[in-house]
Amino acid sequence: MIKPIFSDLNHIDLPFITGDGIGPEISMATKKVLEAAVTKVHGDSKSLSFIDVVAGEAAFKATGEWLPQSTLSIIKEKKIALKGPLMTPVGNGQRSINVQLRKELDLYACVRPVQHFPNVPYPVKRALLDIVIFRENTEDVYRGIEYEAGSKEALKLIQFLKDEFGADLPLIDSTSVGIKPISKEGSQRIVRSAIQHAIDNNRKRVSLIHKGNIMKYTEGMFRSEGYDIAETEFKDHIFSMRIYEAIKKDQGESKARSILEQAEKDNKIIVNDVIADAGLMHLTMNPTCFDVLVLTNLNGDYYSDASAGIVGGLGVAPGANINPESGCGVFEATHGTAPDIAGKDLANPTSLILSACMMLDFIGWKKVSQVIGYNLRQCFEEGILTSDLAPKGVSPVACSSFSSSLVKKISYS
Ligand code: ATP
Repeated sequence: MIKPIFSDLNHIDLPFITGDGIGPEISMATKKVLEAAVTKVHGDSKSLSFIDVVAGEAAFKATGEWLPQSTLSIIKEKKIALKGPLMTPVGNGQRSINVQLRKELDLYACVRPVQHFPNVPYPVKRALLDIVIFRENTEDVYRGIEYEAGSKEALKLIQFLKDEFGADLPLIDSTSVGIKPISKEGSQRIVRSAIQHAIDNNRKRVSLIHKGNIMKYTEGMFRSEGYDIAETEFKDHIFSMRIYEAIKKDQGESKARSILEQAEKDNKIIVNDVIADAGLMHLTMNPTCFDVLVLTNLNGDYYSDASAGIVGGLGVAPGANINPESGCGVFEATHGTAPDIAGKDLANPTSLILSACMMLDFIGWKKVSQVIGYNLRQCFEEGILTSDLAPKGVSPVACSSFSSSLVKKISYS
């Protein structure tokens, strides 16, 4: 599904937004790791160079704009970018730069792989997660409309809803209202990209996570559109649990079960749906029941951070915002700017390094990403951990030492 614009290239120009706060430290670490891995795998036959572009506070200081047009133009031209965390000023109506970037480039799929690394402490009993989250990035609360209680817009809208539709909203003056738009097309394209990802990466299950039992026409439609896409566009690759339920109702449970078992033998991807609140409980109690998850925007937000927490925090969770049709992707650290440790060489660069690995997979340089991933795991195995991860009794390493150790491992592996 991703346009093959990168696969034949021997040289990639990678726009790189260093970011604010700990951005410079983790970006420097990531650049060194990328350079070492590309050289290790491809020698002189392939190369990668960085185009430094600005956004966030650094851009504002340099140009007076938080997201300069020149930055957007370069990313549009090159189709990819790697991005450190960006500062968004609070309180003057400024929108998040991350959200602006996603909107400008229509990066509708927020993709977050979550897996546990050795020696990284985690708060739950078994952090066996190995999942990929596809969060819809353009609708729901990202396109939400809200009116404050008592405002003329809220009063007018509530009155309209009461008069025209008989809505049960008695406390007119003290009720805020919000609109949560979810479209068929938006639901279809995120589910399509999640199933395609499952096919391309040999994943076994795609779970549509929703709250359709309460919000039938938004979350419920997300579920039904998801099943429709799965059953029509991917019928040779998947088995739908909606069909399972229909067979069970018509022909009994043992018939349905035997069809499901055959589908599993045939290596079909199982597409099921899970109510969001129960799903979050399963995620913590029985993490192996999930594989690829696809969610609306707000649910996706909760699941992304909750699952990152289960494996040890945002420091080890990478992220990508992509549009598989246009082939455009911005790959980013999922944590914030961490101003409390900025400039102290204490930051953990893993999230940005893993995001770089996602970018390498996206452009088809999978061997380079495998070399980084393997050696990163080796660092963790040997207890080379930054201060956010080092347990009591283990001396933490600095951000720069962590990347030097990783570069050494890559170079001599
Ligand atoms: P922002 O305002 O940009 O969201 P924040 O400090 O509110 O910044 P985070 O940057 O996500 O939010 O930081 C939350 C906590 O996690 C902080 O104590 C920070 O030091 C720590 N932290 C975040 N990222 C890292 C990292 N890469 N390495 C080490 N600690 C980190």
